[in-house]
Amino acid sequence: MEILLVPHPVLRQKANKLKIISKEDINIANHMMEAMIKAPGVGLAANQVGILKQIVTINFEDKENNKKVNYILFNPSIIQYSEETVVMEEGCLSLPEQYAEVERPKEIILEYINENEKIIKKQIDGFEARILQHEIDHLSGKLFVDYLSSLKRNMLIKKVKKLQHLKK
Ligand SMILES: [Zn+2]
Repeated sequence: MEILLVPHPVLRQKANKLKIISKEDINIANHMMEAMIKAPGVGLAANQVGILKQIVTINFEDKENNKKVNYILFNPSIIQYSEETVVMEEGCLSLPEQYAEVERPKEIILEYINENEKIIKKQIDGFEARILQHEIDHLSGKLFVDYLSSLKRNMLIKKVKKLQHLKK
Protein backbone atom coordinates (compact mmCIF):
# COMPACT_ATOMS: atom_id res chain seq x y z
CA MET A 1 0.00 0.00 0.00
CA GLU A 2 1.30 3.38 -0.99
CA ILE A 3 0.39 6.53 0.91
CA LEU A 4 -0.73 9.25 -1.49
CA LEU A 5 0.53 12.81 -1.16
CA VAL A 6 -1.10 16.15 -1.95
CA PRO A 7 -2.25 17.25 -4.45
CA HIS A 8 -3.56 13.76 -5.35
CA PRO A 9 -7.27 14.16 -6.27
CA VAL A 10 -8.44 11.13 -4.22
CA LEU A 11 -7.50 13.08 -1.08
CA ARG A 12 -10.23 15.57 -2.02
CA GLN A 13 -12.98 13.00 -2.62
CA LYS A 14 -15.60 11.66 -0.23
CA ALA A 15 -15.26 8.09 1.00
CA ASN A 16 -18.36 5.87 0.86
CA LYS A 17 -20.14 4.42 3.85
CA LEU A 18 -19.90 0.62 4.10
CA LYS A 19 -23.18 -1.30 4.00
CA ILE A 20 -21.61 -4.43 5.42
CA ILE A 21 -18.12 -5.06 6.79
CA SER A 22 -16.73 -7.65 4.39
CA LYS A 23 -13.60 -9.78 4.72
CA GLU A 24 -12.08 -7.57 2.03
CA ASP A 25 -12.75 -4.45 4.12
CA ILE A 26 -11.07 -6.01 7.15
CA ASN A 27 -8.18 -6.98 4.90
CA ILE A 28 -7.88 -3.36 3.68
CA ALA A 29 -7.92 -2.13 7.28
CA ASN A 30 -5.17 -4.57 8.28
CA HIS A 31 -3.00 -3.44 5.38
CA MET A 32 -3.67 0.21 6.29
CA MET A 33 -2.60 -0.55 9.85
CA GLU A 34 0.68 -1.98 8.53
CA ALA A 35 1.32 0.97 6.21
CA MET A 36 0.54 3.44 9.02
CA ILE A 37 2.86 1.77 11.54
CA LYS A 38 5.62 1.54 8.93
CA ALA A 39 5.29 5.23 7.94
CA PRO A 40 5.21 5.82 11.00
CA GLY A 41 1.95 7.61 11.68
CA VAL A 42 -0.70 7.82 14.40
CA GLY A 43 -3.69 7.62 12.07
CA LEU A 44 -4.62 6.78 8.50
CA ALA A 45 -7.79 7.15 6.43
CA ALA A 46 -8.55 4.92 3.42
CA ASN A 47 -8.54 7.93 1.04
CA GLN A 48 -4.83 8.21 1.76
CA VAL A 49 -4.19 4.84 0.15
CA GLY A 50 -6.54 5.56 -2.76
CA ILE A 51 -9.58 3.67 -1.44
CA LEU A 52 -12.86 5.57 -1.13
CA LYS A 53 -14.31 3.62 1.79
CA GLN A 54 -14.99 4.91 5.29
CA ILE A 55 -12.15 3.10 7.02
CA VAL A 56 -9.74 4.62 9.56
CA THR A 57 -6.89 3.10 11.55
CA ILE A 58 -5.47 4.58 14.75
CA ASN A 59 -2.19 3.82 16.52
CA PHE A 60 -0.61 5.88 19.24
CA GLU A 61 1.16 5.66 22.54
CA ASP A 62 -1.06 6.73 25.46
CA LYS A 63 1.72 8.04 27.70
CA GLU A 64 -0.58 8.90 30.61
CA ASN A 65 -1.84 5.34 30.92
CA ASN A 66 1.34 3.81 29.52
CA LYS A 67 -0.35 1.71 26.84
CA LYS A 68 -0.54 1.38 23.09
CA VAL A 69 -3.87 2.34 21.56
CA ASN A 70 -4.43 0.54 18.29
CA TYR A 71 -7.77 0.03 16.55
CA ILE A 72 -9.78 0.00 13.33
CA LEU A 73 -12.92 2.05 12.66
CA PHE A 74 -15.54 1.48 9.98
CA ASN A 75 -18.05 4.26 9.18
CA PRO A 76 -16.76 6.52 11.97
CA SER A 77 -18.72 9.67 12.68
CA ILE A 78 -18.58 12.36 15.31
CA ILE A 79 -22.02 12.88 16.78
CA GLN A 80 -21.14 15.63 19.24
CA TYR A 81 -18.38 18.22 19.73
CA SER A 82 -17.48 20.12 22.89
CA GLU A 83 -17.73 23.88 22.82
CA GLU A 84 -14.30 24.12 24.37
CA THR A 85 -11.52 24.07 21.79
CA VAL A 86 -7.76 23.47 21.93
CA VAL A 87 -4.89 24.41 19.65
CA MET A 88 -2.49 21.57 18.77
CA GLU A 89 0.18 21.07 16.17
CA GLU A 90 -0.82 18.64 13.41
CA GLY A 91 0.97 16.81 10.66
CA CYS A 92 -0.23 14.37 8.02
CA LEU A 93 1.27 11.40 6.16
CA SER A 94 -0.09 12.94 2.94
CA LEU A 95 1.86 16.15 3.65
CA PRO A 96 5.20 14.81 4.90
CA GLU A 97 7.35 17.09 7.06
CA GLN A 98 4.69 19.83 7.20
CA TYR A 99 3.22 20.93 10.52
CA ALA A 100 0.84 23.64 11.64
CA GLU A 101 -1.23 24.58 14.66
CA VAL A 102 -4.95 23.88 14.28
CA GLU A 103 -7.81 24.76 16.63
CA ARG A 104 -10.45 22.06 17.12
CA PRO A 105 -13.02 20.97 19.71
CA LYS A 106 -11.39 19.47 22.80
CA GLU A 107 -13.81 16.57 23.25
CA ILE A 108 -15.96 14.49 20.92
CA ILE A 109 -18.55 11.75 21.06
CA LEU A 110 -17.63 9.19 18.45
CA GLU A 111 -19.62 6.38 16.88
CA TYR A 112 -18.19 3.64 14.66
CA ILE A 113 -18.39 -0.04 13.78
CA ASN A 114 -15.52 -2.29 14.81
CA GLU A 115 -14.12 -5.37 13.03
CA ASN A 116 -16.67 -7.57 14.84
CA GLU A 117 -19.50 -5.46 13.41
CA LYS A 118 -20.26 -4.05 16.83
CA ILE A 119 -21.42 -0.44 17.09
CA ILE A 120 -19.19 1.46 19.51
CA LYS A 121 -20.07 4.83 20.97
CA LYS A 122 -17.59 6.64 23.18
CA GLN A 123 -16.51 9.98 24.55
CA ILE A 124 -12.92 10.89 23.73
CA ASP A 125 -10.64 13.81 24.53
CA GLY A 126 -6.97 14.76 24.37
CA PHE A 127 -4.61 13.56 21.66
CA GLU A 128 -6.94 10.73 20.58
CA ALA A 129 -9.83 13.17 19.93
CA ARG A 130 -7.44 15.23 17.86
CA ILE A 131 -6.30 12.30 15.70
CA LEU A 132 -9.87 11.14 15.14
CA GLN A 133 -11.10 14.55 14.03
CA HIS A 134 -8.19 14.77 11.59
CA GLU A 135 -8.79 11.26 10.16
CA ILE A 136 -12.57 11.59 9.91
CA ASP A 137 -12.02 14.86 8.00
CA HIS A 138 -10.02 12.85 5.43
CA LEU A 139 -13.11 10.71 4.74
CA SER A 140 -14.94 13.79 3.52
CA GLY A 141 -11.98 15.04 1.47
CA LYS A 142 -10.82 17.56 4.02
CA LEU A 143 -7.20 18.18 5.05
CA PHE A 144 -5.78 19.90 8.14
CA VAL A 145 -4.35 22.67 5.94
CA ASP A 146 -7.94 23.68 5.12
CA TYR A 147 -8.09 25.26 8.59
CA LEU A 148 -5.18 27.57 7.72
CA SER A 149 -5.10 30.73 5.63
CA SER A 150 -4.94 30.07 1.88
CA LEU A 151 -1.47 31.61 1.86
CA LYS A 152 -0.16 29.18 4.48
CA ARG A 153 -2.04 26.26 2.92
CA ASN A 154 -0.59 26.85 -0.55
CA MET A 155 2.86 27.23 0.93
CA LEU A 156 2.71 23.84 2.67
CA ILE A 157 1.30 22.09 -0.42
CA LYS A 158 4.01 23.66 -2.55
CA LYS A 159 6.66 22.36 -0.16
CA VAL A 160 5.30 18.82 -0.50
CA LYS A 161 5.40 19.08 -4.30
CA LYS A 162 9.00 20.25 -4.09
CA LEU A 163 9.87 17.40 -1.73
CA GLN A 164 8.38 14.81 -4.12
CA HIS A 165 10.39 16.32 -6.92
CA LEU A 166 13.63 16.02 -4.95
CA LYS A 167 12.97 12.38 -4.07
CA LYS A 168 12.41 11.36 -7.71
ZN1 LIG B 1 -3.80 13.18 7.57
